[in-house]
Amino acid sequence: MINPSVCSPVPSRACHSRSCTTEASAAASSAPVDAVECSGCSAVALPDPKQVGLEAAASAVGGPTGVAFRLLVAGPPGSGKSTQGRTIAAEHGVPHISTGDLLRAEVEGKTDLGKIIGPLIEKGEMAPDELMLEILDQRLAKEDAQQGFVLDGFPRTMAQVPAFDARFPEGVSLLHIDVDDDQVRHRLLARGRKDDTLEVINHRLDVYAEQTRPVIEEFASRGLVVRVDGNGDIEQTAANVRQALDPHTT
Ligand code: ADP
Repeated sequence: MINPSVCSPVPSRACHSRSCTTEASAAASSAPVDAVECSGCSAVALPDPKQVGLEAAASAVGGPTGVAFRLLVAGPPGSGKSTQGRTIAAEHGVPHISTGDLLRAEVEGKTDLGKIIGPLIEKGEMAPDELMLEILDQRLAKEDAQQGFVLDGFPRTMAQVPAFDARFPEGVSLLHIDVDDDQVRHRLLARGRKDDTLEVINHRLDVYAEQTRPVIEEFASRGLVVRVDGNGDIEQTAANVRQALDPHTT
């Protein structure tokens, strides 16, 4: 019952505060549809998305602190996470923050960071974690992000997870847009961005499988992932996302 590093405000969901030493029973709640605050560390646990829908789960982060909506979006390259992320963000009146867009802006602006990052992106490699964090922190500090965000592309490696947890210890739900590798290759070859050659696409798929899937599994183990099938077209995927956000709407 007692776990020194993980208390559990709701059975089957972990308290996200790594420093919390509260006994599970002391923080337990019998109301899994509400966001609950751990009595020991004041971390807020989200309601289980599978029970209440992702929208309620994501919105519940706000409550006492007034945050409107926070959501992470993850998926392989070409999964449409930016397209869907933009739509969700607009619907909720929060900014869509894409780490890929932030990095490409540095490259296009020929900044010092951009000069380091550009060649890496072209090869399908990740940007170094410290640089990624520096750029992301600058963006998250802006006024419009204080009321929430849809964050697309972070955390993307297990090394980035503690950095994310430190910034958002209350936990944030993650929308996983799942797409088969063949569909990814087909879409990206048609898109033809600079990093969309077959060799680089295959490498990005390997990097995704090795480095980003474990992040999704980690968030799933916390009960924070809602998966949607992204193999269909934009409208079909949007419908799947809407249904995942609110299971009562089809
Ligand atoms: P895609 O989903 O098609 O790979 P993105 O726009 O999300 O495109 O990302 C483009 C590139 O930006 C990635 O291939 C990677 O090089 C870099 N990148 C994006 N997010 C991160 C991150 N969190 N950490 C490190 N590099 C990143």
